[in-house]
Amino acid sequence: MTDALSIARDLLRCPSVTPADAGALAVLENLLGGAGFEVHRVTFSEPGTADIDNLYARIGTSAPHISFAGHTDVVPAGDEAAWSHGAFSGDVKDGFLYGRGAVDMKGGIACGVAAVLEYLADHGGTPKGSISFLITGDEEDIAVNGTIKLLRWVAARGEKFDHCVLGEPSNVEQLGDCIKVGRRGSLSGTLYVDGIQGHVAYPHRAANPVPDIASLIVALSNEPLDRGSAQFQASNLEFTSVDVGNKAGNVIPGQARAKFNIRFNDHHSQETLRALVEQRMTKAAGNRIRARIAWEPSNANVFVTKPGAFTDLAVAAIEQVTGRQPELSTGGGTSDARFIASYCPVIEFGLVGQTMHAIDERAPVSDLEKLTKIYRGVLDRYFD
Ligand SMILES: [Zn+2]
Repeated sequence: MTDALSIARDLLRCPSVTPADAGALAVLENLLGGAGFEVHRVTFSEPGTADIDNLYARIGTSAPHISFAGHTDVVPAGDEAAWSHGAFSGDVKDGFLYGRGAVDMKGGIACGVAAVLEYLADHGGTPKGSISFLITGDEEDIAVNGTIKLLRWVAARGEKFDHCVLGEPSNVEQLGDCIKVGRRGSLSGTLYVDGIQGHVAYPHRAANPVPDIASLIVALSNEPLDRGSAQFQASNLEFTSVDVGNKAGNVIPGQARAKFNIRFNDHHSQETLRALVEQRMTKAAGNRIRARIAWEPSNANVFVTKPGAFTDLAVAAIEQVTGRQPELSTGGGTSDARFIASYCPVIEFGLVGQTMHAIDERAPVSDLEKLTKIYRGVLDRYFD
């Protein structure tokens, strides 16, 4: 059975809670291998983390090459007794498919596979260019042995991606309301202000870092980083904690620190942003305040797929099936698209995200059928 519902049920019945695979990738390996794909199972390791299974399958050798990306791992079921249907049952009731991963994102993968198999069957078994699946078992947790390494592994084979569709649940309320075309970057740091510890009764012998860090926090919070860009809201610097670790009421502390996070748009890179914030800090500190920032490493760079032929064909396929004109959004949290964006333009379009990670995660069967038609529409237009 190669319809989206059957494939989704086979996937849902594998309890592939990160880092377990539980047979999920074998379901895809059998289907894709049977359809003529060259299938690779690749295991990645990292000291201190679990080994993770990944799958890369490709059919065709020529360009253009479109890849469907996704993850078969899921978050834990939570209280399984609270589910109306078993979290790994794949039960269908009243038009809904129940199970952990139904929308995030085994359902999306099933629709991609069903659409591709249907497309191949209608075209003598081979695409005009190449189609691949880039599937990881390491997205929901720390994501170090997954997409980031699989992309590198494929690139090392000399293969190139032209475009990618990541089947994460991008829609907010209804199928067709949203394509994710980018995400803001994320950068965190700690601001330190050094003073001189002393007795509160003798402040002239001490230097209190508390009012000084307060003035720096105000200065850095008040000045906007930008006013937004064509596809993004304004960047934002947000302080999340202030600490002196001082238990004594009669001691002026020697140091104060404050943590902050910045969500930044395509006006900045991590490097330019670090320079900008440090420059503002130095200016606000003047000659008197001794301040510095320790930056945390970040692999969450800003990325965006600009509107063009690829987004246009996705929008057309979505409109034809749903009658909706999707918003091209850059909102929300992070996903593996941040890694894929370094290799080719990527869009995220999948099911509706409302029940993801929740008890009774479920997808309307009619949405699975429609999403399969949308992916098929993307393929028809892509290879037209
Ligand atoms: Zn997901």
